[in-house]
Amino acid sequence: MNIILLGPPGAGKGTQARKLVEERGMMQLSTGDMLRAARTSGTEMGKKVADVMDRGDLVTDEIVIGLIREQLELGHAEGGYIFDGFPRTLKQADALGELLVEMGETLDRVIEMQVDDEALIQRITARSTCGSCGEVYNDDTKPWPADGKCANCGSTDQTRRADDNAESLNTRLFAYYKQTSPLIGYYHASRDLASIDGLQSMDEVAQQIKDVMA
Ligand code: ADP
Ligand code: ZN
Repeated sequence: MNIILLGPPGAGKGTQARKLVEERGMMQLSTGDMLRAARTSGTEMGKKVADVMDRGDLVTDEIVIGLIREQLELGHAEGGYIFDGFPRTLKQADALGELLVEMGETLDRVIEMQVDDEALIQRITARSTCGSCGEVYNDDTKPWPADGKCANCGSTDQTRRADDNAESLNTRLFAYYKQTSPLIGYYHASRDLASIDGLQSMDEVAQQIKDVMA
């Protein structure tokens, strides 16, 4: 089963994708993670997208479609794919549809995670992650352990994303509502859409996702 997790920055797409990977052996394809990896390893493409990402704007469709194509060409994922942070524009949505047909894959569910702006801003400005295992923390609701070590893996590498600041977040939200939210109508029209309440606890959100994937 292949799904798209759709929602604004901070909606919890990455957190839920990680759970699905663990529990169902699905494969997470996060264009945000791929782009950050390209930056860290210092590739030409990574250098090209750095400023755009830090500002909170979208990188070009060509780049992200290319990244997804590369992954899909590696072969079929037995547990299914989770598209996380992709597609983000109508052009990307069309391209994904064509790619899936080309690869003999289906799109089974598009899950829209609804969270209001106020909660998004709180979540993102308080967010940190473990640089080693990717565990996500929140200064208010799930603080980084007082002993300085990640509760999941013991690493001391607490990191914050360069674009998790108030100004970039504004740009990211604007990009979401202007360029990505039209996909809600797009997938509603093709009957693939399911909308869930992303404001509930992590486990309750996971349960809702399970229900719509059943
Ligand atoms: P978030 O959903 O928290 O904003 P992501 O990790 O998905 O963050 O993406 C971070 C940044 O990477 C985006 O703000 C954008 O610059 C770039 N990016 C990621 N995915 C895409 C995409 N599908 N199309 C264009 N830009 C993207
Ligand atoms: Zn960790």
